[in-house]
Amino acid sequence: MKKPVYLDYNSTTPVDERVLEFMLPFFSDKFGNAASKTHAYGWVTEEAVQTAREQVAALIHSEPGEIIFTSGATESINLALKGVYEKYHSKGNHIITVATEHKAVLDTCVHLEKYGAQITYLPVDKGGLIDTGRLRSCMTDQTILVCVMMANNETGVIQPMREISQIVHERNSLLMSDATQACGKIPVDVRHEGIDLLCVSAHKFYGPKGAGALYVSRKNPRVSLVPLIDGGGHEKGLRSGTLNVPAIAGFGKGCEIADTEMAENAKRIKVMRDHLETEILQAGNVFVNGSRENRLFNVTNLAFSGVHANALIGELKDIAVATGSACSSAIPQPSHVLKAMNIPDDLAYSAIRFSLGKYTTEEEIRFVAGRVKEVVCRLRISE
Ligand SMILES: *Cc1c(COP(=O)(O)O)cnc(C)c1O
Repeated sequence: MKKPVYLDYNSTTPVDERVLEFMLPFFSDKFGNAASKTHAYGWVTEEAVQTAREQVAALIHSEPGEIIFTSGATESINLALKGVYEKYHSKGNHIITVATEHKAVLDTCVHLEKYGAQITYLPVDKGGLIDTGRLRSCMTDQTILVCVMMANNETGVIQPMREISQIVHERNSLLMSDATQACGKIPVDVRHEGIDLLCVSAHKFYGPKGAGALYVSRKNPRVSLVPLIDGGGHEKGLRSGTLNVPAIAGFGKGCEIADTEMAENAKRIKVMRDHLETEILQAGNVFVNGSRENRLFNVTNLAFSGVHANALIGELKDIAVATGSACSSAIPQPSHVLKAMNIPDDLAYSAIRFSLGKYTTEEEIRFVAGRVKEVVCRLRISE
């Protein structure tokens, strides 16, 4: 069987050949422990880690010393939320986040509620955007952290981070952002946007799985954290454990490539995404979920009125996409993101996320558009 057309880049991406090439020596020749100060094996890998730190920092416009390497965005999110709460809970126990955040954020918040945290889950409008006026009115003297994702993984909706950070800083609180879907795709500048803690993951933009980072602002404001993992004191004591040098080196290389090729990829991918969307919308009674104006260029989340996404996906075995429902339980639930956007259950159940990447071709898009239209029409007739 021919491999399905991959349109699930928001879930993960293949490793760029250049990244893979760059990583390989760190599995064999350059295998040293980056914490070994007494010999050249360690010096070589320590230097590689430093280079990667500079490359990650350059991508988000931070200082290299503000980057903590982790195993990925989930860990970075846990470290940021739990680390801030443990450090600052005597100052206040209130955290504000958004109903459409990734489960890594929402589940961590539920965990913190058991330890006395009071969490406000901001609603979103039909387009998936928060109301900044509402954020302002939710903030109290107890608010130690506001956590707003930069770009949503399901819909691609981009929140107005700069406006949000101004509100947060007026109240002397901290702003954390899960930028896992934004980094490597669109320009991210932590200083300009006023973000104090930022989470990123390598495998969402052609780097290896199992590598990520947490940016922690070291001045204006200087953020302190309690670590999740204690041990040898690696990463300024915030994340102990022998560094995963091959993955970190690959992560750095991926950042460097993204930095130079981002604009060009964005332009090309947007043309294909728009083409795919326009074609599929022609089937009629198809709706775009999420604000079309404030959205990543590589995603389209579509609801097909009168069609169940599972029936649709069952017919589309030659296309790899994600549905708008989570099958974490026996009965699939419509996605919490679409629910928060007030999309009716039947439409939410019919939603499919198409996410494109730099290896997507025009030929694939033509094929997918044709197949989706054909299957949607057929399913509608048979129902
Ligand atoms: C993928 C993703 C995560 C989780 O990242 P991992 O590195 O796989 O742990 C968190 N947030 C968002 C928005 C994501 O897209």
